[in-house]
Amino acid sequence: MSAQGSVIFKERENQIHRKGDGAFEMDCNRDSLAGAVSQRACVFCGSRVVLYPIADALHLVHGPIGCAAYTWDIRGALSSGPALHRLSFSTDLQEMDIIFGAEEKLYRALIELIDRHNPKAAFVYSTCIVGIIGDDLEAVCRRVAAEKKIPVLPVQSEGIKGNKREGYSAACKAMFRLVGTGDTSDISDLSVNILGDFNLAGELWIIRDYFKKMGVQTVANITGDGRVEDIKRAHGAALNLVQCSGSTIELAKMMKESFGVPFLRVSYFGVEDMAQALYEVAGFFKDKDPEIVERTRELVREELSVLYPELQKYRKDLCGKKAAIYVGGAFKAFSLVKAFRLIGMKVVMVGSQTGTEEDYRDLHEITDEGTIIVDDSNPLELSSFLKEKDCDIFVGGVKERPIAYKLGVGFCDHNHERKQPLEGFVGMLNFAREVHSSVMSPVWRFVPRRKEKA
Ligand code: SF4
Repeated sequence: MSAQGSVIFKERENQIHRKGDGAFEMDCNRDSLAGAVSQRACVFCGSRVVLYPIADALHLVHGPIGCAAYTWDIRGALSSGPALHRLSFSTDLQEMDIIFGAEEKLYRALIELIDRHNPKAAFVYSTCIVGIIGDDLEAVCRRVAAEKKIPVLPVQSEGIKGNKREGYSAACKAMFRLVGTGDTSDISDLSVNILGDFNLAGELWIIRDYFKKMGVQTVANITGDGRVEDIKRAHGAALNLVQCSGSTIELAKMMKESFGVPFLRVSYFGVEDMAQALYEVAGFFKDKDPEIVERTRELVREELSVLYPELQKYRKDLCGKKAAIYVGGAFKAFSLVKAFRLIGMKVVMVGSQTGTEEDYRDLHEITDEGTIIVDDSNPLELSSFLKEKDCDIFVGGVKERPIAYKLGVGFCDHNHERKQPLEGFVGMLNFAREVHSSVMSPVWRFVPRRKEKA
């Protein structure tokens, strides 16, 4: 432990920076410190969250039952059609399978599940124990693919082989095997793939609708409300739009290298970033369609004319209130900082599980003096920061929720359990409304933290 604070391990001091406290330096993108109980999930979980919204694919977890149970319908991603992704299948490995190997068991499970559910493709996830016993996933998948005439894709996501980012990489490699195998004949010159949105509460439908109004065709959603056939022909799109850069940027890079599809990094959260994303797409296509810029302006103007007056109402009450942010990818954190600023709130802590040095440098640029910036944090650190800064609201995912509630701090779920979309212009309004009702609730006056101060 450090002298600076009893909850911060000495080995983690370089992963925490207070803006204004010396020159900016951040140690990040490294394995979590053993014993520090990181908020990160394992490699397998990283690949599972990326691939699971592909709704017409079979997702089979080759491992003990806990790996599948732990990630069953992990974020409740919505589908406009099939919903096979919401089931969780496992080979349920037992002691004898570990001793003698479980390739035959995997083969039998795949055959039975494919016969029963008739999926368009199957993803087979490797877990810790499979990495240890060395089952040849690749060979089993090849055998089943030849028999059943559908793509059967191994996901090399052994939980022990690194941090969550390795899982994103395994997912991208598995998906990339599909890309380039479908028919691209009816794809427009003005077309995009949407990467890194998982359609937890219908966000993809909002974004697709904006593009439709602009005259831009969406070829594949990767992976929210995803379809195997769309991913197969995704190489025919003119542009890849990458949100949540940690999870799908590798796929975008592979598609650029192999198929020449360029990519843009975007965010659909908050007014500024949403508008910028649409304008960047319009700018990309303006030589092919000069009127697209005006159509986009009109769309943004219309949306803002409804949104701004509503936001002002919430801003009045929220001015000066304090927010803390801890999310998976740092890109979402940028948009959240800007969104809180728009409704008058101050971000006093911001962190992520998988940010890079460049991400944290950018966050350092846009945050206020005194803001705590943290990489790969843990519950003890987060609790101490929330108390120190006396936050009014904490934004995070399912693992951050209990931290906030135990401390008597308002919470906004920006991930797993969302039931209302937060993206697009309408999403910003939902966000402001939710933050307002949480922060302004009279209940916080009665929590021990505030009562002690009174
Ligand atoms: S893959 Fe390994 S770390 Fe991940 S849930 Fe399974 S056993 Fe746990």
